[in-house]
Amino acid sequence: MASVTLENVVKQYGDVVAVNNVNLHFADQEFVALVGPSGCGKTTLLRMIAGLEEITSGTIKIGDRIVNDLPPKDRDIAMVFQNYALYPHMTIEDNMTFSLRIKGKKKSEIAGKVLQVAQILGIEHLLKRKPGELSGGQRQRVALGRAIMREPQVFLMDEPLSNLDAKLRVQMRVEITRLHQRLKRTIIYVTHDQIEAMTMADRIVVMKDGVIQQADTPLNIYKNPANKFVAGFIGSPPMNFLDGTLSEENGQLWFVGAGFRLPVSGAHRNALVSAGEKSVTLGIRPDAVLVGGEAFGADNGRLDAGVDIVELHGSDQLAYLEIADGIQITAKLLPTVQIKHGDKVTVNMDMLKAYYFSNSTEKALV
Ligand code: ATP
Repeated sequence: MASVTLENVVKQYGDVVAVNNVNLHFADQEFVALVGPSGCGKTTLLRMIAGLEEITSGTIKIGDRIVNDLPPKDRDIAMVFQNYALYPHMTIEDNMTFSLRIKGKKKSEIAGKVLQVAQILGIEHLLKRKPGELSGGQRQRVALGRAIMREPQVFLMDEPLSNLDAKLRVQMRVEITRLHQRLKRTIIYVTHDQIEAMTMADRIVVMKDGVIQQADTPLNIYKNPANKFVAGFIGSPPMNFLDGTLSEENGQLWFVGAGFRLPVSGAHRNALVSAGEKSVTLGIRPDAVLVGGEAFGADNGRLDAGVDIVELHGSDQLAYLEIADGIQITAKLLPTVQIKHGDKVTVNMDMLKAYYFSNSTEKALV
């Protein structure tokens, strides 16, 4: 069993609380992505699980064992760092086989295995070289290979694909997912890349300022963000946020902003009325904002807008639209929509896909 459990874990560096009372359970064989802005405590959390960083307070368990005082080598984990941490004087082959050799594994067994792992990662032609003779991306793959060789119960990966070019990154994303399926080990994976988190992980943990904001499946994190921070952090281009107040008029609830108003969908009405907050933030993803095309029936929010900038991205285009003085929203449109800077357009918003956040707590209200 290689579950990992964190109970009330705190890490303080002087006055800085890098990890603030974290409670998390990583199930055996689960693939969990840790995401959050720079400095939110992801690496510190990973290093504490690895035993490379002491915890200020709390408990860390691997399986049923409390590992607080256990040195890294006895934790049955392998960590893949952003900066590879390869031994510069050893060949790639020796780097990869080092841990098995000191464990006294048979030479023939090691030789077969290193070839197999090198083939998976496409580095078999590099085995006789030294780390200094490799590119950053190649070194990163070697670091991954070295971790795989050890067959630990838990893999801790800190941005293992950050130095690869876009094409190799996509390839390695698939390889790591495949490895996870094949090796059936627990993987805790720190990344800045939302696509990696969304596509590879069983569960995503979003952190901010050392605090867990939400831990859920990728789909739930995207569809049901717990608060405004998660809603704005996950999703590209990011969710649009508009400030306004809720106001009832002739049986219809409206979201009224500075110079525009939008009807609240009947599906959201009861939750918003019972929340009892007047001043709220409305969130809407760019793909729920259309220019031209069909309106969204009873849930349509219609606005007039001026087109500021249009960016063609191949399979879609992003339009930056001014809906009132100084208030811009982004729309993600099909590339076939004819639109250019300076146009006056009608915007249709799918209000059934709107989110509402409390202005006092930033929590999602619907
Ligand atoms: P990034 O995405 O930029 O790698 P991160 O989310 O991994 O960031 P951490 O490296 O865990 O963030 O850092 C969390 C906080 O702890 C930051 O405010 C950082 O400045 C601080 N910190 C990290 N290591 C130390 C240290 N050795 N001494 C003092 N402060 C530290």
